[in-house]
Amino acid sequence: MDKRQQRRVGFSLGYFLIALLIVWAIQALFIQPFVVRQTEVPYSRFLEDLETGKIDEVSLTDARILYTLKQEDEEERLPSTYNTVPVEDPDLVQRLADAGVIFSGEALEQSFFETLLSWLLPLLPFALLYFFLFRRMMQAGGGAGVMSIGKSNAREITGEMTGVKFKDVGGLDEVEVELKEIIEFLKDPQRFSRLGAKLPKGVLLVGPPGTGKTLLARATAGEAGVPFFSISGSDFVEMFVGVGAARVRDLFEQAKKRAPVIVFIDEVDAIGQSRATVGAIATNDEREQTLNQLLSEMDGFEANKGVVIMAATNRPEVLDKALLRPGRFDRQIQVTLPTEKGRRQILAIHSQETPLADDVALDRLAQITAGFSGADLANIVNEAALLAVRHDHLKVTMDDFDLAIERVVAGLQRKMTLKPEVKKRVAYHEGGHALVAQLLPGTDPVHKVSIIPTAKGALGYTLQMPEEDTYLLSKAELEQRLAVMLGGRAAEWVVFGDRSTGASNDLERASDIARRMVTEFGMTDALGPVRYVTDAGMGYLGAVSQVRSDISPETAERINEEMRRIVEEAEAQAVKLLTGNLDALHEVARVLYLEEVISGDDICRIANEKAKSPEPVAV
Ligand code: ADP
Ligand code: MG
Ligand code: ZN
Repeated sequence: MDKRQQRRVGFSLGYFLIALLIVWAIQALFIQPFVVRQTEVPYSRFLEDLETGKIDEVSLTDARILYTLKQEDEEERLPSTYNTVPVEDPDLVQRLADAGVIFSGEALEQSFFETLLSWLLPLLPFALLYFFLFRRMMQAGGGAGVMSIGKSNAREITGEMTGVKFKDVGGLDEVEVELKEIIEFLKDPQRFSRLGAKLPKGVLLVGPPGTGKTLLARATAGEAGVPFFSISGSDFVEMFVGVGAARVRDLFEQAKKRAPVIVFIDEVDAIGQSRATVGAIATNDEREQTLNQLLSEMDGFEANKGVVIMAATNRPEVLDKALLRPGRFDRQIQVTLPTEKGRRQILAIHSQETPLADDVALDRLAQITAGFSGADLANIVNEAALLAVRHDHLKVTMDDFDLAIERVVAGLQRKMTLKPEVKKRVAYHEGGHALVAQLLPGTDPVHKVSIIPTAKGALGYTLQMPEEDTYLLSKAELEQRLAVMLGGRAAEWVVFGDRSTGASNDLERASDIARRMVTEFGMTDALGPVRYVTDAGMGYLGAVSQVRSDISPETAERINEEMRRIVEEAEAQAVKLLTGNLDALHEVARVLYLEEVISGDDICRIANEKAKSPEPVAV
């Protein structure tokens, strides 16, 4: 029997005891009173039984009179034991004596056991609650065990030689250059202190999730050949007050002993969240204590002692300003999503050990994966390898990669049957998106359209793959994108003459773009080149903005009018395009309905074959 089985037996014994207690409690609290009620008779009936001489034996308590019938009467009346509530009756004893029944009094003394239980029973719910909370906390404590949490060195904090090198990190060459200095310093701190040069104590890596911040920190330690001490801010959530602070203190204590080292605080936003932004009521003492400890540790040792603190976050905007003050994390390094070249490197790194078929072109994969993070790309390589295994391929093929990309983009494909009418509508909707994209020159080419429902709940999707990374979009390009977004709704309108709920996400995205065109990019004459929003900070998806509070209601109304005009014009354009290419729309929808997927090439072919007008569409 292995350990896990043993634990299960231990637990089921506990559950058994609890179940026993519960059964007993139910019996004592509900069933016994129920039985008593069942056999309860009016006092008058008791007197009647007594006078007619049916009663054999009577037992008197304060609360009840229990009596049993004589043998012969017992036959005709079941059950044989009855009880009644005594009334004020001074003659009772005389009557009993007259009737000649055996009678006795009974003291209502509880046994020791009953007394004990009557005390313990009310505690049971609390005990259960405690028991379950306890277990949860043990799990939350990462297995350290709730008993050992008080001891701050419960989990031995030791540095680790990571062995990760910069060659394992792709597409972050510029960032690596910035870190070179720190590596030099860690290799030989004396050289720096001799010349009086001071390095920043803390380096904050900022960037979207999955871009390799953690990896980069580990590689920095690996390159410098120094121990890597790390904690993650999220470890501190759901812990007892004081533990986080103790852990931070220990971490620095241990780290200083082994300097030069890197101390890495991952997801620092979990502890370093601005004290102001944490909800008014839910001020988290634990977080605050941990943060304060971290701040005082950072202030507490001198630079050049050979401890470099690195931290990572994807939400720099929520960080407490105190963390960013000089002498703390005063150097910030942006870790961005990889460019095409970077994606190529990352794909190469992660497919090093993977046998690739000859048709696999990493260049092409890098090309069509704009916007993917390093973690996404690692995920794609892994998915592709899994698919290859499932299809019994000896090597991973380009088809495996294509499918893997779709999975990562659209979530896992799920089997779900749709009613034919719904499926038809979805086919036209997605066909509309795709055809508008195909017909407009300034939009990203369609890679694939699918009406296979995704795990994330979309009924279909149109996958457009940018040819190159986009840094700048013109007004015309934005308008065309809007037309593509409204193409699904337009197709439904053109073909069915009504609209459906399927376009709400499209409308959300379209409205967002329209709003930004008006308020941020100054793209309308009506409102001019004025910015009507203020930055609410930097999110990892770009700047987060809010409409300025000082704009007049009239201006706000005009913004709404302009947004509406822009979206309506885009829809009108989509409707016009689809009406003019109705044959192509029907054909795309037909193929989609039958095959459920259609490639960008096929859409291109259909559009050309069915084109009414050979000249390019005016935009
Ligand atoms: P972050 O900390 O920024 O969220 P991670 O460093 O945890 O990202 O990245 C998760 C995984 O994704 C890494 O372990 C690695 O396998 C892969 N990865 C991410 N970025 C890169 C990159 N630039 N080069 C190579 N692999 C990467
Ligand atoms: Mg990370
Ligand atoms: Zn849509």
